[in-house]
Amino acid sequence: MKPAQALPWHAEIWQQWMQQLHEGRLPHALLITGLPGLGKRTLARALAHQVLCRQPDGGHPCGHCQDCQLLASGFHPDLHQLEPESEGKAIKVDQVREVSSQVQKTAQQGGYKLVLLWPAEALNINAANALLKTLEEPEPRTLFLLVSDRPSGLPATLRSRCQQWAVKAPTLVEGQAWLRAQLSEDQSPQILLKAASGRPLQALKLAEGEAEHQRQAIQQVIESLVRGADPVDLAARLKSIPLRDLLNCLQAWLADSLRLRLLGDAAVQDSRQLPLYQQLNALLGVRQLLNLEQGLRQLHLQLQSNPNTELFLENLLISLTQEMGHE
Ligand SMILES: [Zn+2]
Repeated sequence: MKPAQALPWHAEIWQQWMQQLHEGRLPHALLITGLPGLGKRTLARALAHQVLCRQPDGGHPCGHCQDCQLLASGFHPDLHQLEPESEGKAIKVDQVREVSSQVQKTAQQGGYKLVLLWPAEALNINAANALLKTLEEPEPRTLFLLVSDRPSGLPATLRSRCQQWAVKAPTLVEGQAWLRAQLSEDQSPQILLKAASGRPLQALKLAEGEAEHQRQAIQQVIESLVRGADPVDLAARLKSIPLRDLLNCLQAWLADSLRLRLLGDAAVQDSRQLPLYQQLNALLGVRQLLNLEQGLRQLHLQLQSNPNTELFLENLLISLTQEMGHE
């Protein structure tokens, strides 16, 4: 795991924090607010990593000191997470007391002690009061980072104990540039960012949902083929999926089916698809799986010459059908 880094549209907040850190003026508690999908938790983690790193390199954690290594392992003794035990539940008073007693001890690594608290509005009233007490008698070199989509859900007394920072959405250009670097070629940062009302991490979630949606559509078509449905009818159902994504997905499934066949369950990379692989294996021998694999590789080459999508899909599904022994 790489050290967490602030995202491009966090730059202004980040600069001010670095100034505070440099001058020894970081407060004991920060409340980071803003709409979901703007990277507030990433920003909080980035600050935690920066503060804990022994040799930060300009505005970034170094990535190789002992503290950075502990952070990379996912366990740093001076970084505490305070969140609900399960999603949608409250953060309870016992959890707050436990963490408060932890941060009263000397930092194990000799530096700062940090608490990441998310989502802050999940604190129930007793938990919020217990936290308030801790913040009223702050320990030196202790930093509470509260993150909230809905700060109005926090008691005003607690809010007033925190320095508040509102994360704003990036400009369109900034958001699209960042998103473009995260997406595959076929996905449009413009469309996704618009659908996510300008919130880049929300757009990324939509993109992942879209990929999952495509995967399900392909799976349904393959299962229909296995049952002997007409490949030409089925081809129409895949029209909206970019051919490259379709081939990549099929290749991954074939490779995994072969792994299952030759090496067993443990070698399979996407175990969610085991039932599908078992179906494919029941229908196809190793030689046929290899034939199909080779066929898909040739189809990949054809993509360079911009083939007619409809014909391409029909040919692909017909050849799959033939290998499966349905004529
Ligand atoms: Zn470091």
